[in-house]
Amino acid sequence: MCHLHARPSAPTGARTLGRRALLAGAGGALAATALAPIAAAAPPRTWAITGATVFDGSRTLPEATVLITGDRIVQVGRHVPVPPGAEVVDGRGRFVMPGLIDAHQHLGGSTAAERAANLSKLLAFGYTTVFDPFGSLADFAVLKAHSAAPDAPSPRYLGTGPMLGSPGGWGDFDMPETTVVVTGPDHAFEVVDGLAAAGVDAIKAANDDWFWGRSPLLKTMPIDTQEAIVRAARRRGLKVFFHAPAKRLAAQALEAGAAGLLHGVLDEPVDRDFLRLLGRTGASYVSTMMIFEVFGDVVGTVGRQQAYDRRGLVPAATYDNLRGPEAIAAIESTVDPAAMRAHLVHLRANAEPVARSGANVTFGTDGGSFGEALGIAGHLELVLNGEAGLSPREVLSGATLGAARMLGRHDRGCLAPGKLADLVLLSADPLADLTNLHFVDQVVRGGRLFQAADLRAA
Ligand SMILES: [Zn+2]
Repeated sequence: MCHLHARPSAPTGARTLGRRALLAGAGGALAATALAPIAAAAPPRTWAITGATVFDGSRTLPEATVLITGDRIVQVGRHVPVPPGAEVVDGRGRFVMPGLIDAHQHLGGSTAAERAANLSKLLAFGYTTVFDPFGSLADFAVLKAHSAAPDAPSPRYLGTGPMLGSPGGWGDFDMPETTVVVTGPDHAFEVVDGLAAAGVDAIKAANDDWFWGRSPLLKTMPIDTQEAIVRAARRRGLKVFFHAPAKRLAAQALEAGAAGLLHGVLDEPVDRDFLRLLGRTGASYVSTMMIFEVFGDVVGTVGRQQAYDRRGLVPAATYDNLRGPEAIAAIESTVDPAAMRAHLVHLRANAEPVARSGANVTFGTDGGSFGEALGIAGHLELVLNGEAGLSPREVLSGATLGAARMLGRHDRGCLAPGKLADLVLLSADPLADLTNLHFVDQVVRGGRLFQAADLRAA
């Protein structure tokens, strides 16, 4: 089984174990008591995928069975008996892995309804969880509700609501619904308490002078504010993830207690001190190569997405819009593409030493605004990290188990008993070649099997 970083989540995991105990006739009385309130409901469906090559999040099991009851995985292995009457999906010649997690995705759209529709679109590409570190609390509530049903035809949604910035710094954008300018440590506690009360899944903060952008340098976030945000969040059981693409500012955020960096280091090579700091803090690292590749060369990067999309899953007109004159003008008003190409040299070169250092490397696209085709861009992010020197196994483990660990969601990212039945079936082996991620044919969310083609047609 995959390396587990913690126990399965208590409430539903316990219920699944209870049911299994009941079926097996062991511990029946205890299980029956625990089950009493839901005993009248229809029994959860049990079904299996058999004979597939299963990547469980860290290792590969040939000719394996995945047994699923309700929204949970019951068993995974080579000699798993399938109960009589259980439906069987023939997995011979196919590849099964945990559902992908995009650890930095903004979903685009100008309304909550459009963003919800975009969230759903990601399911067809094998994404079963999406982390969105930016948005209004109103949109957060809509997206949560949209994806809440245990078997909703949508990835699970995790988000931070508004990003926390600082006066004169990144986030001081006069966008009151999606950013909060934190004026100091006391204010940090007030703001974080408010977000925690709204039910956000994590906190996002920014410490960035915008060295990579068009305007004069901005102010950075004072260290005492960074520390106060982390302290306030920890008090509410929340992690803080930082937008901090400069090495020295990322290091500040890590020293202040950041649980992860939402962009890779863009401005210079990572050195031993930085890698040690990542190791000591256990923080996660999300390169978001796609957004910076788009900034460096939107026409080329959209072309790469279209070339990756061998089955034409995204309409050609979408690609044309993404690299059209308006898109190019919007990008050039934000960044200098030539300067960005120089930064990209560092971003790409930093991926491998960070992974080798043992840091929790995971993946996100920062998609939603510029030059990225939903779903396709996420796969290409993984391919780009492979090209940067990570093995397919490192990449796929980071995109599943690593992301679950980053987000503190130990109920997913791994195919093992008690975990959520969120998984992907492919007709080609992504461990042999990451571009085979294109061949996601079926997706299981919460134990419900979806045909990717049906999801795309919906
Ligand atoms: Zn972002």
